[in-house]
Amino acid sequence: MERAVLLRSLSPSSSSSALASTRLFSRSAHRLARLTKRHRTVPNFHQRSFLRRHLGLISTASRPSLQLKKHFSSLSVRAVATSPASEVLGADDDVSEKLGFEKVSEEFIEECKSRAVLYKHKKTGAEIMSVSNEDENKVFGIVFRTPPKDSTGIPHILEHSVLCGSRKYPLKEPFVELLKGSLHTFLNAFTYPDRTCYPVASTNMKDFYNLVDVYLDAVFFPKCVDDIKTFQQEGWHYELNDPSEDITYKGVVFNEMKGVYSQPDSILGRTTQQALFPDNTYGVDSGGDPQVIPKLTFEEFKEFHRKYYHPSNARIWFYGDDDPNERLRILSEYLDMFEANSAPEESRVNFQKLFSEPVRIVEKYPASEGVDLKKKHMVCLNWLLSETPLDLETELALGFLDHLMMGTPASPLRKILLESGLGDAIVGGGVEDELLQPQFSIGLKGVSEDDIQKVEELVMSTLNKLAAEGFDSDAVEASMNTIEFSLRENNTGSFPRGLALMLRSMGKWIYDMDPFEPLKYQEPLKALKARIAKEGSKAIFAPLIEKFILRNPHRVTIEMQPDPEMASRDEATEKENLEKVKGSMTQEDLAELARATHELKLKQETPDPPEALKCVPSLSLQDIPKKPIQIPTEVGDINGIKVLQHDLFTNDVLYAEVVFNMSSLKQELLPLVPLFCQSLLEMGTKDLDFVQLNQLIGRKTGGISVYPFTSSIRGKDNPCSHIIVRGKAMSERADDLFNLVNRVLQDVQLTDQKRFKQFVSQSKARMENRLRGSGHGIAAARMDAKLNIAGWVSEQMGGVSYLEFLQALEKKVDEDWTGISSSLEEIRKALISKNDCLINLTADGKNLKNSEKHVSKFLDLLPKTSPVGSSAWSARLPPTNEAIVVPTQVNYVGKAANLFETGYQLKGSAYVISKHLNNSWLWDRVRVSGGAYGGFCDFDTHSGVFSYLSYRDPNLLKTLDVYDGTSNFLRELEMDDDALTKAIIGTIGDVDSYQLPDAKGYSSLMRYLLGVTEEERQMRREEILSTRLDDFKEFADVVEAVKDKGVVVAVASPDDVDAANKLRPDFFEVKKAL
Ligand SMILES: [Zn+2]
Repeated sequence: MERAVLLRSLSPSSSSSALASTRLFSRSAHRLARLTKRHRTVPNFHQRSFLRRHLGLISTASRPSLQLKKHFSSLSVRAVATSPASEVLGADDDVSEKLGFEKVSEEFIEECKSRAVLYKHKKTGAEIMSVSNEDENKVFGIVFRTPPKDSTGIPHILEHSVLCGSRKYPLKEPFVELLKGSLHTFLNAFTYPDRTCYPVASTNMKDFYNLVDVYLDAVFFPKCVDDIKTFQQEGWHYELNDPSEDITYKGVVFNEMKGVYSQPDSILGRTTQQALFPDNTYGVDSGGDPQVIPKLTFEEFKEFHRKYYHPSNARIWFYGDDDPNERLRILSEYLDMFEANSAPEESRVNFQKLFSEPVRIVEKYPASEGVDLKKKHMVCLNWLLSETPLDLETELALGFLDHLMMGTPASPLRKILLESGLGDAIVGGGVEDELLQPQFSIGLKGVSEDDIQKVEELVMSTLNKLAAEGFDSDAVEASMNTIEFSLRENNTGSFPRGLALMLRSMGKWIYDMDPFEPLKYQEPLKALKARIAKEGSKAIFAPLIEKFILRNPHRVTIEMQPDPEMASRDEATEKENLEKVKGSMTQEDLAELARATHELKLKQETPDPPEALKCVPSLSLQDIPKKPIQIPTEVGDINGIKVLQHDLFTNDVLYAEVVFNMSSLKQELLPLVPLFCQSLLEMGTKDLDFVQLNQLIGRKTGGISVYPFTSSIRGKDNPCSHIIVRGKAMSERADDLFNLVNRVLQDVQLTDQKRFKQFVSQSKARMENRLRGSGHGIAAARMDAKLNIAGWVSEQMGGVSYLEFLQALEKKVDEDWTGISSSLEEIRKALISKNDCLINLTADGKNLKNSEKHVSKFLDLLPKTSPVGSSAWSARLPPTNEAIVVPTQVNYVGKAANLFETGYQLKGSAYVISKHLNNSWLWDRVRVSGGAYGGFCDFDTHSGVFSYLSYRDPNLLKTLDVYDGTSNFLRELEMDDDALTKAIIGTIGDVDSYQLPDAKGYSSLMRYLLGVTEEERQMRREEILSTRLDDFKEFADVVEAVKDKGVVVAVASPDDVDAANKLRPDFFEVKKAL
């Protein structure tokens, strides 16, 4: 229910990012924040839809101190926590035989307490992994090998298109109908460089099978191969509204990729992949190069589907507590309709042969004009590690090595590079093993042109030194504990465990290797541990560095140079091409194109007939529980301090949050808070330097993070503003956990000028990256800052204001370090205190009880300061319309107003209405016909701020017109009972989203802080369930306020902003941020 708040605050809840793969394109973007990686934004990562603002973007939270790499997190999948399920059985043999399947092999996998059976469909050769256990979060996925031959983006456009209507589900977008009205815990599609993956998940059996059927019908029998309009809409087409106007390119993938090609980190990722693999399919871009996409024809598109979306080329995954016989029954219906084809041969990915000598590549990226570009270069060293796939033990050892070298701020390779002062932040994600051959990448961004060579030398000399000297034994122990902890905890965040497992298995299976092997890590890990104990870590890791990196000639060094003319040059080239196209057309051609444009628009804007919508299976309101999900919460106190306890099964892990009130902090200190939090974790104490402190945390705990949290509280003027310290450890180490939290809070010396300077550079680099890649988050934060105090506070710590603060601070660190250092100390004094402190604990009853004495000791050690009243934070940014100009080819457009200020009282129906707007009006107009990658609204039910946002949008003013049309859309809305029921069920699906135990405990804490009671939750649920069409009509008058009084913020290209200000003089105040 308090999704907006969770969205703002949940980012550090899980260290694992199971989908941390590179160069992955996915269908919908609502979980993007979780999918990004430790060191860099994932290059070339796209998704089919962008539904809502997600956190991370504007959240001021800093990253967890110990983030694990996918190598370990994604293999750490345990099916069920509650009880071992050794009796779970596979399908009956006679049933599978009768249905046309041959059992290839069967195993009980201890690591995930699952029975897994590999089948082959006899007629077509389709392969199926049927994994049975007691996990209620069921997962299905179908994966095809789809290696592209060029950069036209066929696999990516097809991934978008097949979910736009199929034989049994002939609607415009069944995908959207599922988003609207199902209880899915996961629904998306991804394009990799060599495969396309369609996963769904749900805890509701009926819902699960509905999702499976829609997906199977979509991939095998899509309408898009018969109707060119889908290809035009999702891929590309010429748009001409009137023969007198200019022709433009439109298409969802086209604009999505333009956004990707505007981001320096993405350009680096793509250049790296293409340079490492010049001879196989990885040498082209499966996502599509905007300059090449318009070369793609509908014929090629259809042929690609015919060839590769075929059972012979499919790998299918089922996972969970459903009936294994039923799985095969569903599949046989589809698979039996096909004969075997030759796709498995044609889709095989060839190995890249290793180079005999290193290669060097210089690439440009678009930068702003008129800013200092001296320290804006990037350099990254990359190795292709092997000509053949590695065995699991070597892969595991390499993953371990990667964690040792780069896994934490204290890891030597990362630390030495950052401490060198040669650059602002790390690029390159270390070891990547998701493609056919593994690679290793490391480098720096924010480098001066003169220092490029120094960075290269430093990387090589550090690797040489590590090979020669080995690793500190404390560091090895810390990495081992971190990895083992993560395996044990198996925290996949909001990502279904079964999906993490599937992606892990697919990493080998897709290349015709054993799908079981990647799931079984215990033995190889034990063997590795034993070898380290016996031979010492140096004997294990030094040869790996030598062989795979130092003596490996397949090295590609990439230098990225800022080019202030690139964006306008690309735009000019595109314009020129389009003018040529227009010039070659006759008057008749132009009239025809205008007619076709109009026809496509008409089709896009015509709603599906109600009969068609009925064919998408949906649940009924009877299937929906009437009561909200209860989280056991006991509010008590220890030594007079409030303690919340959640008795939940956590497999002996203790999760703890310590919350301090921030509201007495002086206003001018707010922007320093994120850096203060980072300093606590990354500076040393009197007797431990920061490396030792980090290793200690790694050896004894599962990680500690510190970050600020701010939100409005409904009905109150002052926001809720806190610092949250999160930590986790095995319960038997609760003592160590609280002891370390105490040392972090009280003993760390906030005096390390050199490290602080690095934090500033890193934060600045991160903010600059966000501004280009997540401009909608920046725009949203900016609007919030104009509309309420909590928003203003957050923007000070994570928006454009924060970026400006960092730019100024970078100089100040040299001039007035004493002043800054004492400000940090002042923040500590104001915050770390027994007054208004709160503890939140999640574990099972026995472990909760055991932790109490450690909590008590911890609290005793906290200083008691005299209570101070809240500071009078009264600032807001002026309510002017702003355009934040960045070198980009696509825009992010926002408009917002505070609905509570107009007298609106929150009702549960608002959740249903916002969701419906996202999936209908905004989806159709901003995305489908507008050509943006995403358009959505967000209602912060605590502050009352209602905002519209678009993502990678080719338009600017036009999008604002769509927003302003929302009231009319609602007034004229017609909706039958089925559609309304769907909207209600979909909303309940969001409210009841699946959570692992730590997330449950955390949600309960958030509710406590924000004053959301169980009574209110029950009331909102009843309001949601009883939403009527009249509520939509009433809400029309409410959102009218956004049209009339709303404030506009856009993150946009300079040309588009100029054009907008010409059309509507002085509409935007222009601000240059990069
Ligand atoms: Zn996409």
